[in-house]
Amino acid sequence: MRTVDLIIKKKRGGELSAEELRYLVEGFVGGTVPDYQMSSFLMAVCFRGMSDAETVALTQSMLESGGSVDLEGVLGVKVDKHSTGGVGDKTTLVLAPLLASCGLVVAKMSGRGLGHTGGTLDKLESLEGFRVDLSRAEFLRTVNEHGMAVVSQSVDLVPADKKMYLLRDVTGTVDNVSLIAASIMSKKLAIANDALVLDVKVGSGAFMKTMPEAVDLATSMVRIGKAVGRNVRAVITEMGQPLGEAIGNALEVEEAIATLKGQGPPDLEDVVTALAVQLLTMTGKARSEVDAKKIIRERISSGAAFERFTRFVQAQGGKPGSWDRLPRAMHVDRYTAPKGGILASMNCEEIGLAAMKLGAGRKTKDSALDLSAGLKVLVEIGQPISPGDVLCELHHNSPEKLRIAMVGLERAFVITPPGTDLQPTPYVHRVITA
Ligand code: URA
Repeated sequence: MRTVDLIIKKKRGGELSAEELRYLVEGFVGGTVPDYQMSSFLMAVCFRGMSDAETVALTQSMLESGGSVDLEGVLGVKVDKHSTGGVGDKTTLVLAPLLASCGLVVAKMSGRGLGHTGGTLDKLESLEGFRVDLSRAEFLRTVNEHGMAVVSQSVDLVPADKKMYLLRDVTGTVDNVSLIAASIMSKKLAIANDALVLDVKVGSGAFMKTMPEAVDLATSMVRIGKAVGRNVRAVITEMGQPLGEAIGNALEVEEAIATLKGQGPPDLEDVVTALAVQLLTMTGKARSEVDAKKIIRERISSGAAFERFTRFVQAQGGKPGSWDRLPRAMHVDRYTAPKGGILASMNCEEIGLAAMKLGAGRKTKDSALDLSAGLKVLVEIGQPISPGDVLCELHHNSPEKLRIAMVGLERAFVITPPGTDLQPTPYVHRVITA
């Protein structure tokens, strides 16, 4: 087999066999397929696309490039959630304890944030004493006693994805649905969970900006999961505006806690409920959607979900009561509406970047975080706005950072003349099961 022939075959729109794709991926990881040939192949995929069979085979070859986490020793029905990423997305912080309180097990390996989206590990570290670097024994003990643990992924599970993603990033080949689906699913399938729900976000703050793109990606990922015998569904959720009000580590933990107590923002509640409904019905913990919603309501109103959160935090080193003593920024300033009208849209990416500039996120891998910094967006799309209304609060410890963040916000809120007719957008769009 020659790499150049496989590139030409894809360039002409041909379908590669599983063996041919394995040859490319193995060769790339092993060093016999150089970067320039892999780049050329990836670009051919961007122009010609991949069939379902090719996408599944690519995922499997990538998966085989590394080890897997069998979760041996973790007792019970193991579930996981993956989000394609958004602004203010603190869903895991609510969903995991909620599911654990329903008798499911969430043994989660998570990441840190970069750019305009935050990472679950960073958020959890705003709880005093919280540790994400548990030993294997500590991890198992925490999961088995409390039904959940969230740790950092210490090993690179899928080396092929890491190497391919670095190349895609600098060759303009990220935005192909098959490549994205294979990248995400190779990492998720490397962990042996019993059920997986994918939160595919759509809108200005999401990877997928339009509904057809989001449906395409969700369908492709669910098909990959089914093809390898996994229990997978996807939920398409709205990211045309930030999820909840809070963006920034401690602020998001605070909002997640409010949601666990039944006092969260409606969009976050809806998204968490939609994801939990899927996992509860997929695992047989609930007989139907109605039954699942009843269980969820009871777990929240009885305090069981929040109690689970406090147990988990302490099991991972968090100080008792640390959830009531989250770091707070010294200053809270306001960004107000320059004119009146209707809030027609928000640029979530600009809003996420403003939070990052205040210190809530990392510009590069090595940037330091200010866990107390961030934004609270106090308005929703479709809302009437008067001149001078507060659009968002800026929580910060540095007037210089405030000045820089404010500049970006000028592009973030689009206000149209009064009377503009806007159809309300649902927070949860649809579920993809096949
Ligand atoms: N996230 C991933 O993990 N991979 C992609 O290709 C795109 C987004």
